[in-house]
Amino acid sequence: MVITDTYNLTEEEEKKLILREYRSLLRALKLRLKKGDKKLVRRAFEISAEAHKHMRRKSGEPYILHPLAVAKIVVEEIALGVTSVICALLHDTVEDTEVTLKEIEMEFGSTCAKIVEGLTKISNVVESKDTTQQAENFKKILLTLADDPRVILIKIADRLHNMRTLDSMSRDKQLKISSETSFLYAPLATRLGLYEIKSELEDLSLKFTEKEVYEDISQKLRETKRDRTRYINEFIKPIKDELERNQFQFEIFGRPKSISSIWNKIKTKHVTFEEVYDLFAIRIILKTQNEKEDCWKVFSIITNHYQHSLERLRDWVSAPKSNGYEALHTTVMGPEGRWVEVQIRTERMNEIAEKGLAAHWKYKDGNASQESKLDDWLKHIRELLQNPDSNAMDFIHDLKRDIFNDEIYTYTPEGDMRLLPVGATALDFAFDIHSELGKQCIGAKVNYKLVPISHVLKNADQIEIITSKKQKPNEDWLKFVVTAKAKSRIKYYLKEEKRIIAMDGKDLLFRKLDNLKISNNSSVINEICSFFKYPSPTDLYYAIAIHSFDIKDLSKMRIVGDKLLPPIDEERKEIVKEDFDHDLNKQMPGKGYELIIFGENSDKIQYKLANCCQPIPGDDVFGFVTTGEGLKIHRTNCPNAATLLANYGHRVVKAKWAKNKEISLLTGVIINGIDDVGVIHKITNVVSGELKMNMRSMSIDSKDGLFEGKIMVYVNHKEELDELSKRLEKLEGINKVTRLDSE
Ligand code: MN
Repeated sequence: MVITDTYNLTEEEEKKLILREYRSLLRALKLRLKKGDKKLVRRAFEISAEAHKHMRRKSGEPYILHPLAVAKIVVEEIALGVTSVICALLHDTVEDTEVTLKEIEMEFGSTCAKIVEGLTKISNVVESKDTTQQAENFKKILLTLADDPRVILIKIADRLHNMRTLDSMSRDKQLKISSETSFLYAPLATRLGLYEIKSELEDLSLKFTEKEVYEDISQKLRETKRDRTRYINEFIKPIKDELERNQFQFEIFGRPKSISSIWNKIKTKHVTFEEVYDLFAIRIILKTQNEKEDCWKVFSIITNHYQHSLERLRDWVSAPKSNGYEALHTTVMGPEGRWVEVQIRTERMNEIAEKGLAAHWKYKDGNASQESKLDDWLKHIRELLQNPDSNAMDFIHDLKRDIFNDEIYTYTPEGDMRLLPVGATALDFAFDIHSELGKQCIGAKVNYKLVPISHVLKNADQIEIITSKKQKPNEDWLKFVVTAKAKSRIKYYLKEEKRIIAMDGKDLLFRKLDNLKISNNSSVINEICSFFKYPSPTDLYYAIAIHSFDIKDLSKMRIVGDKLLPPIDEERKEIVKEDFDHDLNKQMPGKGYELIIFGENSDKIQYKLANCCQPIPGDDVFGFVTTGEGLKIHRTNCPNAATLLANYGHRVVKAKWAKNKEISLLTGVIINGIDDVGVIHKITNVVSGELKMNMRSMSIDSKDGLFEGKIMVYVNHKEELDELSKRLEKLEGINKVTRLDSE
């Protein structure tokens, strides 16, 4: 459904539109409707339509079209059933209207009420602005997931529809919602096996955060389509013929990779669009009962025609991923010496790959091991979430890395399989089995060979853990464990240990205060902590206990009655912090401010440019309120932007450059190319000669005939930097010019 900017339907037309959408939902659901179901769906639709009667979306359309669309996604793209459709129709009612959970329970039963309650809770935590710990909220979202996975699946459908209709939202909402989507919802969709939705979420998020990149890549994809189709047809022909001769029932086609995955390749591999060799993959979908056998037969037919790369065979048929994904992937050398990825799946595997989790339930009887794997995963999440941890942000990062990354299969001496994230060590393995085993781990035997606890495991390793009762976790362990479970257990243990030691320090301090006739209430303790710069009382007590803080130093403070205060000269002295940021006032005295901060008094605002992305005028930017250093300006494509926007959305301030050409800021580019005698001259000629730019530094590194150069220049506006990149890229021997994020 396309909604145009000018929304102007008559009441009659609107009613027709709503009914049409409702009927199309029923059609999608038709095969799943049992006796009495239709009535329930109709009732949910009526309640929702009535409740949202006077509400409209930002685009102007009647609100009810949103729950209808979400319900349709739930059926068509996630393969859920009637209960989920009812909940999708009602998902915004308790939150935004008079409808109560009690009423929903009475009409549709307790399962529906619980799911809608879960959905209401999620939307509350995501919207909340009063806490600095949005990470805590993510924890809660994951907890809901463990309660009933349908809650998160419907939430993903809701988010998908919001992303599809994000055009009509304000710019800052677009940024916040997009960042949250790429930070949380896309990884969640991946983890639940919803690959189609994951790609769409990532592409949409890119479209709003980096519009230029998105449009550039989609245009290049359009331009190269003809070439690609020709190549794919040439590649497919011999395979298709032989599959037909062998009487396989199948579909074979080439499929372009998503825009965001192409962009990721360009970024991480430092290549140009033209150099991304796998712009598409060939997919073969088999209709067969002999799933495993036939997949391998097809594999052998393909490798009869094309040479395959041994390193790039992935067998997820024998050992499915823990999100349920099954397929055989191989990369072969196609015509013209190009590597081509081929994915072989059966129809069942394909449906699971596209619709994820829910498709598993459908095939439940046929494949019980899949089901238990999912349960294992949900159990794993619960376990992690129940662990106490002081810093929720760290926790989320560990967790993301742990459950959203690629996995390896490892085995106990008894042959039980344990899935661990890539990079996991012997110590991670020990903690995965049991925290007591982890705490006492002193080494391991991997495939019968003795290794240290920091040994990084590989696929198919068999591990035997060696323990000692005398062993104790220490700080260093945190440097090489990667799983969230190991990390949080070690931190917990260290904290406990510290707390016990700190008790001695506390005794010492309280006795001293007693002698000095100073009361030991919390305001006195806080005064001491802040004067001697300890983050918490426990840290202070601990420092006293291990003698890193001499209790005699208390005499540096003043005794006033039964209180302890900082000395007078220290009281007002400001803490000078190390600061590596560009301070505009220092750099450009008397130039005033070149940035407009919307909604604030623009000429009173102090701000700094973030060092992580070094924005220059003309860049798309946002302001971020830091805790200690005031307002910082970041580029919207800053490497840290997604994390900041997704976790601290409430601290984001809209910001835009004013048209002031006076200001000049330092920025830089990285140049890659072929080493050549004249290359430095050519580059400097463009920078200083043609463009007359003010260059601060240039360095060139060359190796094996290739070079990488770094140029730092002062510019007034992004256009100048773009012009520089364009001209440099045209020089002979220069392959790629990329902007520098930070020095
Ligand atoms: Mn909604």
